[in-house]
Amino acid sequence: MFYCEDCSKKNKWPASLAKSYGQCECCGKTAICNDVPSCQLSETPAMDKVMKQIVEDEAGSDEDLNAALDEVVVIVAKVQ
Ligand SMILES: [Zn+2]
Repeated sequence: MFYCEDCSKKNKWPASLAKSYGQCECCGKTAICNDVPSCQLSETPAMDKVMKQIVEDEAGSDEDLNAALDEVVVIVAKVQ
């Protein structure tokens, strides 16, 4: 995950020792960004969104929940 200082503070993500200039993956701003492996972050905005979706879907059928879980697997595969 590559993110700027603003996003680091906003999402309470750790600042990394390795920093380089580029486009933030979170807000798209071009700035000095922290380069941290996704596995070191507790959650990404995408995960947050999917987790909320799952909670909302809880009252629905098992099929809906399974579809939401499939989506999580795809997102986790993308961010890692
Ligand atoms: Zn940013």
